[in-house]
Amino acid sequence: MDLDRFREESEKNSKINKGYLTRLKRFNSRKVDDAFHEIHEKVFEEIDCLDCANCCKTTSPIFYENDIDRAAKALRVKPGDFVEKYLRIDEDKDYVLKSSPCPFLDVDNYCGIYESRPKACREYPHTHRKKMVQIMDLTYKNTLVCPAVLAMVERLRKSGLGK
Ligand code: SF4
Ligand code: SF4
Repeated sequence: MDLDRFREESEKNSKINKGYLTRLKRFNSRKVDDAFHEIHEKVFEEIDCLDCANCCKTTSPIFYENDIDRAAKALRVKPGDFVEKYLRIDEDKDYVLKSSPCPFLDVDNYCGIYESRPKACREYPHTHRKKMVQIMDLTYKNTLVCPAVLAMVERLRKSGLGK
């Protein structure tokens, strides 16, 4: 995955993608879900996250209490020690990673706590969830992080969904 090229592309088209996703907020919710879910499957047949890991390299998941307990258990440390070592509280008062890339990402782009990773990591990039129209702002932000989301949004835009 050429992440420099992805960054260039995503920034070049950011305005048009933002406008498009803003318009989709008012479009038929069921149709938007169906289109996203179908394109999600297609794009992830073509893109291998192990060639990318840009989400793990550049952003942090939110860690809720369950996530902290599970990850701490996997690492055989106390939840309090896990928090102290790896997490900080962000402007929304959520626990997030102190540093990026994620300290659990290894050199081959594997997650060192894969079975115990936070829910937010398991659900990323959120393009197969229901009521996609409610997360168009997040989806726009993810066009700047995730090559798969960029590909989905551009294909849907070019397909005429929302017209
Ligand atoms: S979810 Fe997106 S950003 Fe994360 S590794 Fe897969 S393609 Fe890359
Ligand atoms: S916990 Fe694993 S999946 Fe989540 S950001 Fe870190 S390396 Fe990526």
